[in-house]
Amino acid sequence: ADMQPTLSLANVESAYGPVKAIRGVSLRVMPGQIATVLGSNGAGKSTILKTISGIIDPQKGSIVFQGEEITARDPAWIVRRGLSHVPEGREVFPLLSVRDNLLMGAYTRRDRDAVARDMETVFGYFPILRERAAQDAGLLSGGQQQMLAISRAILAGPAMILLDEPSLGLSPRLTKEIFEIVVRINRERGTTILLVEQNANMALNVADHGYVLENGRIVMDDACDRLREKDDIKEFYLGMK
Ligand code: ATP
Repeated sequence: ADMQPTLSLANVESAYGPVKAIRGVSLRVMPGQIATVLGSNGAGKSTILKTISGIIDPQKGSIVFQGEEITARDPAWIVRRGLSHVPEGREVFPLLSVRDNLLMGAYTRRDRDAVARDMETVFGYFPILRERAAQDAGLLSGGQQQMLAISRAILAGPAMILLDEPSLGLSPRLTKEIFEIVVRINRERGTTILLVEQNANMALNVADHGYVLENGRIVMDDACDRLREKDDIKEFYLGMK
C-alpha cells in the first residue's frame, strides 16, 4: 500500500537576499521515520529547517505536511498543525525558569492534562530538568539547554520534530545521551523526526534514511545502512580514509 509521507518538499529554493542557500531541494520523510540531512558547514541544512517551519519563505517550491500545504505559512500556525522546530543554538529563554520555558512550548494547547503528562514524560527523559525546574534556564549548561529545547518542542505535542544540530558544542558523552533520547522519543511516542547534523556518524546511527546536501543541493539519498558503506560518505563525512 502507498503510504503518504508525513513531510515532503518539492523543488524548494530559499535565499538570503542575493545569496541562494538552497537550490531545488526535494525530500520526503515517512511516518514514524527518523530522516537526516548531512552536510558540511554552510551547505544549507539550517535553511531547509527554517524554510519548513516558516521562519523564512521560499522563493520557489512546495512543502506539504500531513497532506496539507504549509509553504510560507506563519510559524505559529505551523506549530499548531503539529510540526515543532528545535533551532540550532537551542534559543531557550534565559531569564525564564526551566518550567516556564517548557510551558511556553505548550502555550497553544488547551488540554491541561495532556500537557501535565508530557511534562512528566520530559522529566523522565531528562531528570536534571526536574531538579532545575525552578532555576533560570540561562544558568543551565549547554547540554542541559539542548535537553530543554528538545523538551520544549515535545510540550507542543507535535507529530513531527525538526532537530537542528543537537550535538553542537556537546561532549561525545552528552551527544550520545541526547541521541538515545531522540531515538526513544521516536520509538515511544511515534514522533517523526528530521535531523540535521554535521556529526554524520551519530546521525547515520540513529536515522533510517539520509540525504546528503552539498551547496544547497541534495546530491545523494539512501537508507542509512547503505549510505555508511559508500566510499564518498566514508571519506568525506565519516573521516575513514
Ligand atoms: P551551519 O550548520 O554552519 O549553520 P548549514 O548547512 O546549516 O550550516 P545554513 O546556515 O543553512 O547552512 O547556510 C546556508 C548558506 O546561507 C551559507 O552560505 C550561509 O553563509 C548563508 N546564510 C545563512 N544564514 C544567512 C543569513 N542570515 N544571511 C545571509 N546569508 C546566510
